[in-house]
Amino acid sequence: MTEPAKPIIQIQNVSKRFGKVTAVDNVSLDINAGEFFVLLGPSGCGKTTLLRMIAGFELPTEGRILIDGQDMAGIPPNKRPVNMVFQSYAVFPHMSVADNVAYGLKIAGVKGGEIKDRVAEALELVKLGGFGERMPDQMSGGQRQRVALARSLVMRPKVLLLDEPLSALDAKLRAQMQFELSELQEKVGITFVTVTHDQDEALSMACRIGVINKGEVAQLATPSDLYEYPANRFVADFVGSVNIFEGKLTLDEPDKAAVDCPGVGKIYLNHGVTGPHGADVWIALRPEKIYLHVPGEGKAVKAAAQDAPDGYNFARGKIKGMSYLGDITLFEIELDGGARIRVSRPNLSRHDQEDFTWDDRVSMHWRADSPVVLLG
Ligand code: ATP
Repeated sequence: MTEPAKPIIQIQNVSKRFGKVTAVDNVSLDINAGEFFVLLGPSGCGKTTLLRMIAGFELPTEGRILIDGQDMAGIPPNKRPVNMVFQSYAVFPHMSVADNVAYGLKIAGVKGGEIKDRVAEALELVKLGGFGERMPDQMSGGQRQRVALARSLVMRPKVLLLDEPLSALDAKLRAQMQFELSELQEKVGITFVTVTHDQDEALSMACRIGVINKGEVAQLATPSDLYEYPANRFVADFVGSVNIFEGKLTLDEPDKAAVDCPGVGKIYLNHGVTGPHGADVWIALRPEKIYLHVPGEGKAVKAAAQDAPDGYNFARGKIKGMSYLGDITLFEIELDGGARIRVSRPNLSRHDQEDFTWDDRVSMHWRADSPVVLLG
């Protein structure tokens, strides 16, 4: 039997108000020891305030925060077993890289020999071994960010808090650092708690994600569960790209359901939905889960679909927009029923994008396990 996950951070009914603004609204969540946890949400949702309360830079208006079982009420930031890496990766410009990394240890009164070893070890961890004598202005943005990480890691905190750690980097470097941060976290085994508004960043790095909306937890899940089983409209829309249709539940049996969506038609599901006949629901359908047939292919597929056992989801329409993005092409299609639907198609060969053009009549289908029913 595997051991149950042990929470290192327990956030219990925490609220934070700034005057009339409720930045964090009765949040309760546990962050487990050794996990890479990401707080994800749009600008102003309260994620930074939550992180700053864990660090001790803000105090909760209500509720309590425990770290490693200890209530943090009255414990100042420098006495908490956490360390924070800031958005702007502030390093001291007049100090060498090694002195930057050593700074916290000196303040803490660690002895010279030990400082040298720990600085070398921390620089090695962030792949900056041999860079100790350099000055920060002789380093790239990505390298400076690693110096900031080394400065925190050298303190061996139980929890590392990272506030938008990659936001100052360009897209390519950011993608590389996402890998490096996950690798580093696995290597050192310290709990990482990161704040970001970037869903790709969250999905690629996290063990678990807490999606925050208007100060509340909208969903707490692994990256794939968040994407494949969003709990509500906000999460479906915020994480990834999605088609959302309004509809009415017309059939609800233990292993299947159907939702009648004006402008689209009946969408069949091979799973049940708990809700009364006629209930208003939403259907979320990801663009990459829709198979677009090349013109002419649709008829044969439709014929084959007649025999499909449990509801074949098929629609026709006209291409109203196309964006070629290299790896995929995004299509905006007006369905015969009137609704608009977004479909993405991987460009598996160099010529795939030549199959389609504006105003082509096309058909499409999707599997009955692809649509997600949202009740709220
Ligand atoms: P961003 O991604 O833009 O940093 P965020 O999700 O991190 O946003 P917070 O910085 O936590 O959001 O802010 C949440 C809300 O609380 C916002 O409405 C913000 O204006 C407000 N707020 C944050 N700090 C303060 C403060 N010190 N005084 C007053 N209001 C504040």
